[in-house]
Amino acid sequence: MPFQQVPSLKQPPRFGEGKQYWINTFGCQMNEHDSEVMAALVENLGYRPASDPQEAELVIINTCAVRKKPEDKVASMLGKLGALKQEKDDLIIAVGGCMTQQEDLAAYIKNRFRQVDLVFGTHALPRLPELLDRARREKNTIVDIEEDYSGREGLPAHRASIFHAWLPVIYGCNNFCAYCVVPYVRGRERSRNFEEIVSEASGLAQKGYREITLLGQNVNSYGHDLPGKPKFASLLAELDRIEGLSRIRFMTSHPKDLSAELIDTVARGKKICEHFHLPAQSGSNRILDKMNRRYTREQYLDLARQINEAIPGVSITSDIIVGFPGETEEDFAATLDLLEQVRFDSAFAFIYSPRRGTKAEKYTDRSTYEEKEKRLQALNKIQQRISLEENERLVGSALELLVEGPSKSNPELQTGRARNNKLVHFPGPANLTGRLIQVRITEARTWNLFGEREGEPY
Ligand code: SAH
Ligand code: SF4
Repeated sequence: MPFQQVPSLKQPPRFGEGKQYWINTFGCQMNEHDSEVMAALVENLGYRPASDPQEAELVIINTCAVRKKPEDKVASMLGKLGALKQEKDDLIIAVGGCMTQQEDLAAYIKNRFRQVDLVFGTHALPRLPELLDRARREKNTIVDIEEDYSGREGLPAHRASIFHAWLPVIYGCNNFCAYCVVPYVRGRERSRNFEEIVSEASGLAQKGYREITLLGQNVNSYGHDLPGKPKFASLLAELDRIEGLSRIRFMTSHPKDLSAELIDTVARGKKICEHFHLPAQSGSNRILDKMNRRYTREQYLDLARQINEAIPGVSITSDIIVGFPGETEEDFAATLDLLEQVRFDSAFAFIYSPRRGTKAEKYTDRSTYEEKEKRLQALNKIQQRISLEENERLVGSALELLVEGPSKSNPELQTGRARNNKLVHFPGPANLTGRLIQVRITEARTWNLFGEREGEPY
């Protein structure tokens, strides 16, 4: 008889009963979703969400390691929490996420911030309940940064939204772009089981979710590690058939793996939204090569052309790194020229931030931070003009919105997201959240659009 694994009996007691938790999330959508999983796990222990960190008996900080800035913010937040802990003896402070998956940073947090009770890396997420149980009973800071990938499937999630859901399809990254820490802190690529994803998406649709966003560092490499090697395009096509769902989004696409088949699937899909987040990082072949991106500027431009030709009304957004080591004025000019040629709907630009253990950390970098800042400003100015021009082309057209709720800057307006991912504000009642509605665009700004409602919500 084959050996049968007995499920772990280590279900900690509900020690969170009558207590409150607060989670602070830094970084990307994958982290946001991990925080939703953390929320469900601690709610299973009895904790309830706090409306203010001051009231919480458990504070979890989910960190980001992609650049230095979010790391600095974590350090200053931990300083403040130290003061809170002095007032509140039973407060548990846990620090998780990408920063803590690195051995040296986990040690730094443990030694520098004595108020921290638990340091847990990205792979320790399934073990969070047991770790918290230990943290509340033991005096020493508990550290779990094992690179053990098990236990991630089937974890519950307490989703922040009732109409939009993040849905991871592949964890980790194998690409090792020279500047990037992600492969070190998220491990190697692990695709989730095809049927598991389809069944989770169907379940979400049945619960009333209208939109899902499929997540992965590089969704295009989905499936290469699974039996039968299912393609990401096939997964999308399958999800497009789910009744009740209205929209499917996905991110991020790596240009080196974006196939003609995927473009065709998006073009044919009824629910698959017409938006590609396709980070270019640079427009200079010399820099792209040093970054280990494995595509050329010409290939990128060709991809953008194929997407635009195949999908009417599509939007393409991007990430750009400014001031990569060795980037000359000429390289930078090539990036600006790429922006002008592709005409991104929007682009997030970042100043290169050296990351420990990456290849680029050892590259010689002669330019100063001030020079990089100047380049960033110049690039943002050009991109903002292009974003505004692209938005202006939409004035007069009709767009379908999924309403997200009252506008953050003007509560008399409602805000919705169009299929092309643009944010649109429009006058309307507050009870439209989570519904679809048609608007006619009346005004364009750099970051968003304004419109008038047409017809009834559906
Ligand atoms: N997997 C995604 C991106 C993950 S990180 C992809 O491949 O596109 C998100 C963005 O942060 C990247 O696109 C890049 O523009 C930026 N980034 C990553 N490492 C960085 C670094 N060391 N310095 C500055 N920006 C960085
Ligand atoms: Fe980082 Fe490159 Fe992987 Fe994206 S593809 S997560 S930029 S290593």
